[in-house]
Amino acid sequence: MNSQVTAGPASNDVIIVGCGPTGAMLAAELRLHGVRVLVLEKETEPKSYVRIVGLHVRSLELMAMRGLLDRVLQHGRRRPAGGFFAAIHKPAPQGLDSAHAYLLGIPQPVIERLLEEHAIELGAQVRHGCTVTGLAQDDEGVTVELADGQRLRARYLVGCDGARSTVRKLLGVGFPGEPSRADTLMGEMEVGVPQEEITARVRDLGRTHHRFWLRPFGEGIYSVVVPAAEVGDRAQPPTLDEFRRQLRAVAGTDFGVHSPRWLSRFGDATRLAERYRAGRVLLAGDAAHIHPPIGGQGLNLGVQDAFNLGWKLAAQVRGWAPEPLLDTYQAERHPVAEDVLDNTRAQMELLSAEPGPQAVRRLLTELMDFEEVNRHLIEKITAIGVRYDFGAGPDLLGRRLRDIDVKAGRLYGLLHRGRGLLLDRTERLSVGGWADRVDRLADPTAAVDVPGLLLRPDGHVAWIGDDQRDLDDHLARWFGEPAG
Ligand SMILES: Cc1cc2nc3c(=O)[nH]c(=O)nc-3n(C[C@H](O)[C@H](O)[C@H](O)COP(=O)(O)OP(=O)(O)OC[C@H]3O[C@@H](n4cnc5c(N)ncnc54)[C@H](O)[C@@H]3O)c2cc1C
Repeated sequence: MNSQVTAGPASNDVIIVGCGPTGAMLAAELRLHGVRVLVLEKETEPKSYVRIVGLHVRSLELMAMRGLLDRVLQHGRRRPAGGFFAAIHKPAPQGLDSAHAYLLGIPQPVIERLLEEHAIELGAQVRHGCTVTGLAQDDEGVTVELADGQRLRARYLVGCDGARSTVRKLLGVGFPGEPSRADTLMGEMEVGVPQEEITARVRDLGRTHHRFWLRPFGEGIYSVVVPAAEVGDRAQPPTLDEFRRQLRAVAGTDFGVHSPRWLSRFGDATRLAERYRAGRVLLAGDAAHIHPPIGGQGLNLGVQDAFNLGWKLAAQVRGWAPEPLLDTYQAERHPVAEDVLDNTRAQMELLSAEPGPQAVRRLLTELMDFEEVNRHLIEKITAIGVRYDFGAGPDLLGRRLRDIDVKAGRLYGLLHRGRGLLLDRTERLSVGGWADRVDRLADPTAAVDVPGLLLRPDGHVAWIGDDQRDLDDHLARWFGEPAG
């Protein structure tokens, strides 16, 4: 496409390819700052799979920070936050550091719909039935080509187009890692045997077969997970016969399964994009990283990428971003994805039925009785343990701040507009010429043990102290030149 592209002024600030959870979240974040956003989505209908995902603590906090939590809670079921690391059944440690210390089970198509609605309410333009097939960039912008030959232009483009990302491939960004070694079948169906029979069989098998379950899902439907015989073509849905065969192989019976609602298969490929940015094009979500679904982290990770990138890309478009700001997206999020990939690799080993991994699993199960071990693992899975490297400073620097009581109500209630926030317990600090980008709350009673604290729009602590000059340096570091 390169030679045919005509450069010129862009009619959109940002084009997002893919309206999955990552793309929709990013579109909304950009709209908070008035950025003109066009989202291109190839599908015309909502997804047909009913994959139930878990929104973990940090994602629920993000929803609270943007005023979306009540909407999301209406559609999901709250469950305890514990028991997610390698499906080892341990309750969450006492006093998890969050006002939202639970997991929300919610169907993925519902969370996608809610996020897309939110983006549209904020003014994002979403076009379905648009498949991106080509792209080219120049000094001023990016041109995309659609399957129907149409060309569109924007100043920046973000590929949120999932694991098989066309954008990543067109950029030639490497995606190193491991191919899938084992596939798992997953679906919802009815069974032909009594519940007692299932309970006994599943309990026995569950001691060693951690990639197998058969759980009642309500209204006579069962959720079934069983290892597949071989790595297959994941574009092709499995058949009910395949489920029956695999259930017989693993459990000695197919439980008389019938009347499937949906059937799917997933692999355990683990890959991470070499870079998240190539000029004016960025990658986020599954387009940038894939890993097995154990621990339920993929969607959460993508939504959190979008939350990190949104305000930075908006600052770039609006012209107030300090030079390295956009590149902090990769600097901060690439290591987080590396860590998630590693923890899923470790969890997959712990699911093996081989004696060695089983012994390690028993040992880890014992270790998780130590509060600190259990806490460490949960903080990893829920992402509340993430600490970005903002340089030397107190432990809170670079971490997200939990939702705390402030005199105006709850802290997260003050972050709905996606702006920075100075929390000033000294009552003598100022945001000066940054008042158009950063709010200030003077509150000596705020429930945090520091004199002053600067929060970025993503809720991470960018500065701690009581010295105005030092604060000004940090405001400039994150929010650019002061106005006037
Ligand atoms: C069985 C299973 C269970 C899971 N459970 C969990 C869980 O509990 N918790 C969790 O956090 N994650 C879970 N995941 C992972 C989660 O589903 C993904 O990480 C998540 O969907 C990634 O979101 P995304 O927006 O980055 O990509 P996607 O959801 O893949 O969205 C990409 C979008 O881009 C569109 N697109 C693709 N190519 C183009 C193109 N060329 N032009 C235009 N549009 C395009 C697609 O149609 C799609 O809508 C699970 C995954 C599986 C397989």
